[in-house]
Amino acid sequence: LDEDEFGGRRAMGGASGRVPLGIKRKRLRVLVTGGAGFVGSHLVDRLMERGDNVIVVDNFFTGRKDNVVHHLGNPRFELIRHDVVEPILLEVDQIYHLACPASPVHYKFNPVKTIISFYFLSHVWFSRKFHKTNVVGTLNMLGLAKRVGARFLLTSTSEVYGDPLQHPQVETYWGNVNPIGVRSCYDEGKRTAETLTMDYHRGAGIEVRIARIFNTYGPRMCIDDGRVVSNFVAQALRREPLTVYGDGKQTRSFQFVSDLVEGLMRLMEGDHVGPFNLGNPGEFTMLELAQVVQEVIDPNAKIEFRPNTEDDPHKRKPDISKAQKLLGWEPVVSLRNGLPLMVADFKQRIFGNQREDVG
Ligand code: NAD
Ligand code: UDP
Ligand code: UDP
Repeated sequence: LDEDEFGGRRAMGGASGRVPLGIKRKRLRVLVTGGAGFVGSHLVDRLMERGDNVIVVDNFFTGRKDNVVHHLGNPRFELIRHDVVEPILLEVDQIYHLACPASPVHYKFNPVKTIISFYFLSHVWFSRKFHKTNVVGTLNMLGLAKRVGARFLLTSTSEVYGDPLQHPQVETYWGNVNPIGVRSCYDEGKRTAETLTMDYHRGAGIEVRIARIFNTYGPRMCIDDGRVVSNFVAQALRREPLTVYGDGKQTRSFQFVSDLVEGLMRLMEGDHVGPFNLGNPGEFTMLELAQVVQEVIDPNAKIEFRPNTEDDPHKRKPDISKAQKLLGWEPVVSLRNGLPLMVADFKQRIFGNQREDVG
């Protein structure tokens, strides 16, 4: 076991590509779709650090050039502005397919507080974009993988379990999804992407991997995309009340982004198709999360209750025994240790160089 930069202990030369000193590995050509986004850009950092050639394909819908700007100019790095809904010809060994309009504020727009026609218009627009990316975009990336013989990894989501009737969720659980609800474009879009991935695997012999990612947070997260961790952290820094939806007793499990990236790389390099749950089994109610944010950022932060969104899952917690056993992976960063790691980044992006005295 060796000590890594995130303070965790991981197996030497494990599936993540940390090769023991002195052993050379082939330099890979790796495509990361959605690589200018939150998770994608951290993955790109690790792949670049490993010495690979990395191509990022991103349409900057929710991603930002800033997230990868530090690699521009490196001859091993290439950034292509492209929408995966359109076909593309590239020569690569591995494809991490992350491209997805992942920001929930769009699909969970709260109709109670919004002009109804705007809600429907924006929702229909978003739902179409979502399905095109998840269905046509995934199909194109699988077609590319087939043509060049690349290994393909899909970043699916815990949302495929819907409002789960099994707790914690195991990969064999088929889920409880409302096919006609406001969240279904996300849930069903990803479920279709999983189906396509398995069909190309069985039908065309593509090497595939499927990750089901649970709520993830960390630096470079979108500040105003409406997710609970980014909302609470930004609100505490701006000295605004923390908005708890519903009674705040619903639960989620929050994973720090470096743990997820390690899991994705182990999955890609390993021998198992999956699906694998990648998440932190620590389960928190939204009220508990608000308390941790108070402890970490501002003990005086107030809590304000707001109506909850439709079809909000009551509970979510991953069973990660499969990933522990087959990938030798488990998260090492707790919520209390991870939250402070995103505060500096959020402060910088919210306040820039202005003076502020919070945290
Ligand atoms: P993100 O929005 O930061 O990143 C997604 C990236 O995809 C963005 O850079 C966006 O511009 C790009 N993109 C969107 N549509 C595209 C298109 N049609 N063509 C090209 N690029 C496109 O989101 P993230 O949190 O980094 O999520 C990455 C992946 O992980 C997504 O597939 C998401 O569904 C999955 N996931 C994330 C979480 C989480 O908590 N962050 C949880 C479950 C699953
Ligand atoms: N595709 C792509 N890049 C490639 C190969 C394929 O974007 O290098 C797209 C292609 O345009 C098609 C999709 O992937 O829309 C599925 O390709 P496949 O060969 O599986 O099916 P077909 O072309 O027969 O529809
Ligand atoms: N939530 C909240 N306050 C906020 C934003 C979200 O209480 O400001 C709640 C939301 O209702 C849900 C949970 O936090 O129960 C997680 O929401 P998020 O959008 O982050 O993730 P997802 O619902 O996709 O798991």
